[in-house]
Amino acid sequence: MRRDLFTSDHEAFRELCRDFVTKEVVPHYPEWEKGGRMPREVFEQMGSLGMLGMAIGEEYGGGGEPDYRYNVVMQEEAANALVTLSTVRTQLEVILPYFLHYANAEQRDRWFPGLAAGKLLTAVAMTEPGTGSDLAGMRTTAVRDGDDWIVNGAKTFITGGMQADLVITVARTATDPDNRRKGLTLLVVEDGMPGFTRGRELDKMGCKVQDTAELSFVDVRVPAANVLGEEGEAFSYLGHNLPQERLTVAVGSVSQARSAIAAAIDYTKNRKAFGTPVASFQNTKFELAACSTEVEAAQAMLDRAIALHVEGELSGADAARVKLFCTEMQQRVVDRCLQLFGGYGYMMEYPIARLYTDARVARIYAGTSEVMKVIIAKSLGL
Ligand SMILES: Cc1cc2nc3c(=O)[nH]c(=O)nc-3n(C[C@H](O)[C@H](O)[C@H](O)COP(=O)(O)OP(=O)(O)OC[C@H]3O[C@@H](n4cnc5c(N)ncnc54)[C@H](O)[C@@H]3O)c2cc1C
Repeated sequence: MRRDLFTSDHEAFRELCRDFVTKEVVPHYPEWEKGGRMPREVFEQMGSLGMLGMAIGEEYGGGGEPDYRYNVVMQEEAANALVTLSTVRTQLEVILPYFLHYANAEQRDRWFPGLAAGKLLTAVAMTEPGTGSDLAGMRTTAVRDGDDWIVNGAKTFITGGMQADLVITVARTATDPDNRRKGLTLLVVEDGMPGFTRGRELDKMGCKVQDTAELSFVDVRVPAANVLGEEGEAFSYLGHNLPQERLTVAVGSVSQARSAIAAAIDYTKNRKAFGTPVASFQNTKFELAACSTEVEAAQAMLDRAIALHVEGELSGADAARVKLFCTEMQQRVVDRCLQLFGGYGYMMEYPIARLYTDARVARIYAGTSEVMKVIIAKSLGL
């Protein structure tokens, strides 16, 4: 269906992304999958093309265009080519907003040029071994000591944690018995700070081109100048930024489901069974017709949400609805498409297998499907 989200500027950016993905990502992707990450120099290459700094001010080497639709375009073009851009999505759509919203002038001068140039890689560390969905239950602490905060704790499942130069770490700096959401603070922990170490690189079933790490903090001395935003206000900052994080996951889900259908059409037209292309069976046609309908329904919902988000009007509950619907749709569609590949669908050399394993996490991270339902139910007064 015709979409009316994008302008000619977005479409020009789409051309740039498509060209970059085709030439610089697709040929290297199998090698990056084996290495578990995208090499640092590729981030710098993207930085030099202006792909990482669209939302950052021109005075810092960015594009000065804080328009979420550029991020959508980039994700769509990667999915279209059956790849991902490693942690770029997390960096731009999940982490950068914290810097854009909460960094003060000194922090902007210090970090923004490196972020725009792809020389500073980032991660956000909320989840801990003992708590994920219940963010207010975090146990990592930061205690004030003169001009520093002393951070102690552990984080897990941190996307890009192995490569990150700057880790936005959520720590408890105070306790309020009447409000457990108060007293969390964002501190930027830097690579090389004594006591900050990276543990295991976790072995995931999918998303092989991005690292996922355990991080440890033992008496890490973080200067007060590295606090992002107001002390004690992190929970409200997370609440403000999580809708975009959820929308972003939904963008990936819809574009990857669309790619799964394209891959299945291509495969079933060429594969023969009982002397005829698999695509000629009525079951194949009906399955793909049903999948295509699901994708278009999800796309309509998603595009509406993106438009609202661009206007600054997407509510947390609506972002939860979109994430819930689009990620569950992705799972159904990719699974049905994989079925049409028969045994080959189970082999990692076929991109449909990668789409399948990559898809599974969409219902878990950025808040599980169950947590999305909790948020939606609350908005219904339940
Ligand atoms: C690949 C990957 C990358 C990630 N990247 C990051 C990252 O960069 N930074 C970061 O901070 N975190 C990251 N995460 C963590 C992710 O956000 C959490 O895994 C997720 O929020 C769930 O938390 P949990 O794993 O502790 O599960 P739990 O909270 O222990 O949940 C276990 C089960 O209980 C259910 N449940 C929990 N609460 C409720 C409830 N109230 N009602 C009903 N059911 C409930 C859940 O839905 C789930 O089914 C990542 C995770 C993965 C897998």
